[in-house]
Amino acid sequence: MRQIALYGKGGIGKSTTSANLSAAFSEMGLDVMQIGCDPKHDSTRMLMHGRWIPTVLEQMYDHKEIRSEDIIYQGFGNIRCVEAGGPEPGIGCAGRGIIATFQLLEKMQALYGDVVVYDVLGDVVCGGFAMPMRDGYAQEVYLVTSGELMSLYAANNICKAIARISERSSAKCRLGGVICNAKNMDNEQGLVEEFAKRIGSKLVCFIPRSNSVRAAEVNRMTVIEHDPASNQAKVYRDCAKIILENTDLRIPTPLALEELEELAREYL
Ligand code: ADP
Ligand code: SF4
Ligand code: MG
Repeated sequence: MRQIALYGKGGIGKSTTSANLSAAFSEMGLDVMQIGCDPKHDSTRMLMHGRWIPTVLEQMYDHKEIRSEDIIYQGFGNIRCVEAGGPEPGIGCAGRGIIATFQLLEKMQALYGDVVVYDVLGDVVCGGFAMPMRDGYAQEVYLVTSGELMSLYAANNICKAIARISERSSAKCRLGGVICNAKNMDNEQGLVEEFAKRIGSKLVCFIPRSNSVRAAEVNRMTVIEHDPASNQAKVYRDCAKIILENTDLRIPTPLALEELEELAREYL
């Protein structure tokens, strides 16, 4: 079972990329599960044709006994979809949904398949959001970033977490590479490629900004389902293939903040 985690800043395109990769994996005939680990809980929405599935935390508040069908929902291509969920605004711990989700899935023996895709918010890499890496679930991490400084900053922080976790525990958590989800900035590919190199990794996919993503989103589908013949669908399929074939997993070398800023200046 491959356990692939996409980490990145909020709004950078983790869920869009995760859902399209999951759809591409399932098209290849693989048994796929996608777990949304973001309190925004919209990771699997396009796979579920716009449906907001109940989150694990919501179900825990509502029921004493939770069955697997209360938290695992079949989406496009028979992909098993789960949303960890988050606390009510202003109260509670955001990481709790993630911890509760993994404990419950383990108890149900429901974590299985050819590929499990974790879609994890990486703005705060606190204990809660680092849990999938620390506890050996997120074995291959892919950083989703654009060329914007703040998304590179978040990606660099996630590298710090991977490096620290690898140092202090036997968790099999490694960096698989960087996915550039473009914002159409000048020199963006060069910048993200160089960033990937400096952290001791590589750019695995460059995903252009595309209107097909918007069109698919308003029709409540992934691009793979909505516009399978489009160039963007091909980009996601190629990316899924590269990730499946990737065996080059590294412990990253995060940059100092000054170095990151200097790099961003070089590629203006
Ligand atoms: P995240 O999960 O990181 O918070 P989302 O996947 O929800 O981010 O993406 C945020 C917004 O950006 C969504 O409206 C999505 O449709 C849009 N988006 C993501 N990737 C692309 C892309 N390659 N081209 C165009 N729009 C995109
Ligand atoms: Fe929860 Fe993370 Fe906040 Fe700790 S830092 S309370 S784990 S969200
Ligand atoms: Mg998301």
